[in-house]
Amino acid sequence: MKTEFALDDFPAGLVVTTLEEREILFANRYFYQISQQQPQTGARIGLAFTAASKIIIESFVMPMLLHQGHCTEIQLSLQMEAAEPVPVLVNARVIQDADRKLIYWVISIAQQRDSLYQELVNLRNDLEQRAEKLEVLSQTDELTGLLNRRAFISRAGTLIKQALRHKLSYAFFMIDIDHFKQINDQHGHDVGDDVLHQVAQLLASNSRADDILARIGGEEFAMITLNQNHESPIQFAERILTLLRAEKIQGIKVTVSLGLAISAKASFEQLYKGADILLYEAKNQGRNRLVWRDIDGE
Ligand code: GH3
Ligand code: MG
Ligand code: MG
Repeated sequence: MKTEFALDDFPAGLVVTTLEEREILFANRYFYQISQQQPQTGARIGLAFTAASKIIIESFVMPMLLHQGHCTEIQLSLQMEAAEPVPVLVNARVIQDADRKLIYWVISIAQQRDSLYQELVNLRNDLEQRAEKLEVLSQTDELTGLLNRRAFISRAGTLIKQALRHKLSYAFFMIDIDHFKQINDQHGHDVGDDVLHQVAQLLASNSRADDILARIGGEEFAMITLNQNHESPIQFAERILTLLRAEKIQGIKVTVSLGLAISAKASFEQLYKGADILLYEAKNQGRNRLVWRDIDGE
């Protein structure tokens, strides 16, 4: 069995220097290999490093060694003659010799560590981006780009809580395309999809940024909006009806029926139910119309 072990064989740069001048008293072969330095009497360890690393040694490493006696995991760079500097990790400690203080240095290549770290950072960014996309996707109705039913319920609940706190009234719309089954039957499912998309666009472009608008079912949309007076939600509904009456989509006359419940105290469930009943009334009265009510008096 081997009993003598060579410091030259360590896969780390091992260096001993004086404390004051950082003059190299000993360095193993690995250090000379990685630093491109030549063994030379009186050479200082600082020569192996880049200008920036020299400054770090003087202003940070040395004060720490003098104060604490050791310094760990300092990221420095070795100066290369005709290549990019090599990142290294440096640990050092002060050792009391017989009559003087010395510094023992361990210098390890940190190239791999840097690239591994970068890989980790990239991976994390990638995952974060994917999570954000998933979050958006999980709230979006694929066909129309509006919110889906789940997102609608959660956001509407939050909006109603805010409205109650600030004593604002709010309006809840149920909007359903009339005789949509016929459109599908007569023109095909793809045309039906396009009609859905365009009706969604019309609703979105006529709503305000803080309204919550969603496709909550096949050809059913819901919208909740805060309102200062009853005028604005009714105007919104009338505008949608008028625009649809004036134009055809894919050459098809498309109309909608709207149920609108207005309240300053009803819960989400009460509003939902109220608007649904009003929509049903609009259908029964002949479709292509709005039926609205302030449901607080009921
Ligand atoms: P009403 O005026 O009473 O609302 O009649 P309607 O035909 O619009 O209502 P009904 O509930 O009878 O039919 C709705 C149709 O919507 C049936 C279904 O095939 C269709 N539908 C649901 N989701 C989609 C979709 O994503 N794309 C298409 N093209 N059609 C859909
Ligand atoms: Mg319908
Ligand atoms: Mg329907």
